[in-house]
Amino acid sequence: MSNSQTEQLPAHQVEAASKAFEQEFERFARFTSDLNALSSLALDEALAEERALSELRVRHSGKKSALAAAKKLIGRVAPEERPAFGQLIRDFEEKLVSRLDAVELNLKNHIEQVRTARESIDVTLPGRRPPYGHRHPITIIRERIEDIFVALGYVIEDGREIETDFYNFTALNIPDNHPARGEADTFYTTDGFALRSQTSTVQIHAMQRRGVPIRMIAPGRVFRRDTPDPTHNPMFYQVEGLCVDRGITMAHLKGTVTEFLRRMFGPETVTRFRPSYFPFTEPSAEFDFSCFKCKGAGCRICKNSGWIELGGSGMVHPDVLRMVGVDPQVYSGFAFGLGIDRMCALMYELDDIRLLFENDVRFLEQFE
Ligand SMILES: [Zn+2]
Repeated sequence: MSNSQTEQLPAHQVEAASKAFEQEFERFARFTSDLNALSSLALDEALAEERALSELRVRHSGKKSALAAAKKLIGRVAPEERPAFGQLIRDFEEKLVSRLDAVELNLKNHIEQVRTARESIDVTLPGRRPPYGHRHPITIIRERIEDIFVALGYVIEDGREIETDFYNFTALNIPDNHPARGEADTFYTTDGFALRSQTSTVQIHAMQRRGVPIRMIAPGRVFRRDTPDPTHNPMFYQVEGLCVDRGITMAHLKGTVTEFLRRMFGPETVTRFRPSYFPFTEPSAEFDFSCFKCKGAGCRICKNSGWIELGGSGMVHPDVLRMVGVDPQVYSGFAFGLGIDRMCALMYELDDIRLLFENDVRFLEQFE
């Protein structure tokens, strides 16, 4: 800049800088004068405006700004004009800073409000529902069985899964030399307790505790040393039923099992009893029912026989009654047991019973 220009140019430069600022500031001015313009800004828009404002401040008051350049000229202005020029610069700078500050304050307040609103909880909004789980297919079947027997006047008994020799074998009339007592068939704890190999153990506890007459079912887990395969698992679910009263006969057993299967598989279901042997019942019978799928015509489920084998049953052995202090001359009773997993596999047509215990949600989600 040549000396000949210093008399006019400095004031002119400040004026030009002021004009340029006014022009650029115009779009921000509405954020001080128009509250609606501010409140309509979304968070990301307000943040963008805040950044643009900060850039504007640097451009017009930073080291490379026209204002900074004008300040450097103060020393060059003629001494008598210096106060007026200095005042001109101060006025411009004050106006620039105060207007920028006002917009910045409003923008910051607005951003703060939007953030607070976003983080606060709106109690009027509906809650987020956790996804519903499903009952396990074994639970579904177990509850259906329980519902049927409760309707028939039975109570549901629960029992321990670790048993003494007495409850697991002796009280059930299982002889000392019976193979079921061996470690090849039954799991034992290191203390010599057995993991119960049938839910019949609950009968003994229930009769000791409640006395007779009694009508009860006991669903639960049992354990046997089986190698897992599509139809076997070392742990599975059974349900045991017991009815002891005066004058109970085999006819009551057949009627009860038949009624249960009709309610489970449909009113046209037919049952069949085959003589069998169990240490804790005498006489004993296994029971089958007509295939619920093919109605006896023969299909894959019943292996073309029309019948499905389901469980064991019989009249409670007099020795079992004596073992819990019940006089077999006065009371008689029947008992039956069946596998819940097996029934579950039948009803859902599962090819592999192990699926029930693998806890794969893709499998488990398909029920209910
Ligand atoms: Zn069939």
